[in-house]
Amino acid sequence: MSRFWNQKTRKISPYVAGEQPREGQKVIKLNTNENPYPPSPSIEKFLKSFDPEILRLYPDTSCTKLRIAFAEFWGVLPEQVFCGNGSDEVLAFAFQAFFESGENAAPLLVPDISYSFYPVYADLYDIPLKRISLADDFSVPVEPFCAQEGGVAIANPNAPTGVSMSLESVERILIANPDRVVLIDEAYVCFGGTSVVGLLEKYPNLLIIGTLSKSHSLAGLRLGYAIASEELIEGICRIRDSFNSYPVDTLAQKVAELAVRDRAWFEQNTGKIIATRERVRAEMLEMGFDVPVSAANFLFVRPGQIGASELYNNLRNQGILVRYFNKPRISEYLRISVGTDEQMDKLMSAVRKIWVEVKKENG
Ligand code: PMP
Repeated sequence: MSRFWNQKTRKISPYVAGEQPREGQKVIKLNTNENPYPPSPSIEKFLKSFDPEILRLYPDTSCTKLRIAFAEFWGVLPEQVFCGNGSDEVLAFAFQAFFESGENAAPLLVPDISYSFYPVYADLYDIPLKRISLADDFSVPVEPFCAQEGGVAIANPNAPTGVSMSLESVERILIANPDRVVLIDEAYVCFGGTSVVGLLEKYPNLLIIGTLSKSHSLAGLRLGYAIASEELIEGICRIRDSFNSYPVDTLAQKVAELAVRDRAWFEQNTGKIIATRERVRAEMLEMGFDVPVSAANFLFVRPGQIGASELYNNLRNQGILVRYFNKPRISEYLRISVGTDEQMDKLMSAVRKIWVEVKKENG
């Protein structure tokens, strides 16, 4: 606490990101849902021949070429796409553009267990929140999101559970909120979820948020996007242009465009991750662990008798990082990002050893 901080800075509880190991530190990093495979090889080629002269000029604020690439990828118009500096930034812009602030405002509806940045932004921008409890199987209940309040924000597939919602469920929520924005965060949708992009034609209140961090192996580039009706995109642009006219730098625009255009590479890597996820999930189920069906690039695991925090610490001591959330309802679970087969084999052999010991101790 510093006496120079204003009231807001004193009051907020910032988002806590997963641990980033020091450079050169050898760990198996399965704690922040990064993609274990490298980005499109076309990027390496481009960077090797990159002419720094273009950095002399400011970037294209509207990311024209990149938006065209996204439009082709998703089958929408370039006018329906917005690009930002990571989807966290796009989320922040959307919260400011569409959800009302102040004590008397109708609350934004979010699942009680979801991406922990939503409450942080709500707090930062004074947006009242109402947290809707997930069902016991971590599915998102539809009815409570149909009471039109101050808007809706849901991650689909959800994080950290990996559980996804059907298209029909999202559509019911859209229909019930005709005058409010329904934000669907599809950060993980390319790992087997169903995108709601096809609903855009019918629903001008639908706002889809996406990222290249996971599906396209570009977490370090910081490139997120929104797809929505032109009126919503214009709203986000108004916030961007009141904050930072150039959030996406020239290099990021070029690199992201190459990644989006290399569809074969993207499909190959997401396919490998899905296959690894299913194999590891089956192995964990066989050990008696509770692992909800995941449509994301991570598994949400209750490791039976071992105890989640114990397993987290034990793995950490062996240089394997996974994510533990010491929060109500999920403190017995670990979120484990899906790495390469080799990384997952190392994880599983470490988990098995711990499991055998625990079983011995418990008789
Ligand atoms: N949404 C969800 C649900 C996430 O888990 C993450 C990753 N932490 C993000 C958005 C943000 O991703 P990025 O800022 O890297 O695009």
